[in-house]
Amino acid sequence: MRKTIAVMTSGGDSPGMNAATRAVVRTAILNGAKIFGVYNGYRGLLENDMIEMNRRSVSDIIQRGGTILGTARSQEFMTPEGRAKAAENLRERGIEGIVVIGGDGSLRGAQCLADEQNIAVVGLPGTIDNDIWGMDYTIGSDTASNTIIDAINKLRDTASAHRRIAILEVMGRHSGWLALITGMSGGAEYILVPEDSFDLDKIAAEIRAMYDENQKRYVLIVVAEGAGSAIEIGMKLEEKTGIDTRASVLGHIQRGGSPTVIDRVYASVLGEKATLALLSGVSNVVYGIQHGGIVNVNLYDAVTKKKQLDPEYIRMAKVLA
Ligand code: ADP
Repeated sequence: MRKTIAVMTSGGDSPGMNAATRAVVRTAILNGAKIFGVYNGYRGLLENDMIEMNRRSVSDIIQRGGTILGTARSQEFMTPEGRAKAAENLRERGIEGIVVIGGDGSLRGAQCLADEQNIAVVGLPGTIDNDIWGMDYTIGSDTASNTIIDAINKLRDTASAHRRIAILEVMGRHSGWLALITGMSGGAEYILVPEDSFDLDKIAAEIRAMYDENQKRYVLIVVAEGAGSAIEIGMKLEEKTGIDTRASVLGHIQRGGSPTVIDRVYASVLGEKATLALLSGVSNVVYGIQHGGIVNVNLYDAVTKKKQLDPEYIRMAKVLA
């Protein structure tokens, strides 16, 4: 049994990171282990910025978005020297392993720490993008989707009133999951994702025909940031169709907010499982949810393999539009 571990949140924050931190801290303490919280991700690890936590350290946080531990990005940690320093800071306190809650970059960093410094690491997928290989859910993706849906509902009201084209840009530099899932559930006519090509001239011609034939009162397009800029696409579409077009960029609103029930429950369940595994001697895995059940995915696979968008969902979104 490991006796002293740490927990950190890293990279882009996501709603539910606090619920996961809470579960990690309480599980560790309940199992007789010491638990340190590292502030501000890998930067805090390098700056030796950590504190021993108790049950009360994580009171009143399950309902809060963001992360009480803070998060940051660290260039220094990208170097082997930086990681050696980070590992030294852990060893000095007798910390044998760490639960890293973060996205693919953070998990890549965790893998380097494990490989080079022999620090035990267990990952939890904390990202709104839902882009970690081997699992169909990541902590925060449900809350972010619901935030986007709220925006879509509002945009539909005003777009319908004016017979406009509404374009909403959502997060996802490399993954169109958020755009696809919210476009589908928000009834978008078009969903533009980095994983699938699109032809703007064809879209413009189709929209023009829909308006001319009075088939649609308005058109909603959801675009993932990695597929293009809503503002630029909007300007081009307005020019090509002659139809009043409004583009909105949702931005960081998608990152915040009180986590949904799903994000709280899964973050808690995964937090407990990850901690029990780390305490019992496991390393180099990421805990996640796949097909409704808990899975542990090899850390190397999680960071080297690319999660694909479900082609059935891409097809269906087109059918339903
Ligand atoms: P996310 O975890 O949300 O994907 P980032 O990609 O910014 O966020 O990663 C967070 C931090 O993880 C980075 O600032 C860096 O310190 C570390 N990191 C990211 N990629 C690597 C890598 N390939 N090797 C080592 N550390 C990395």
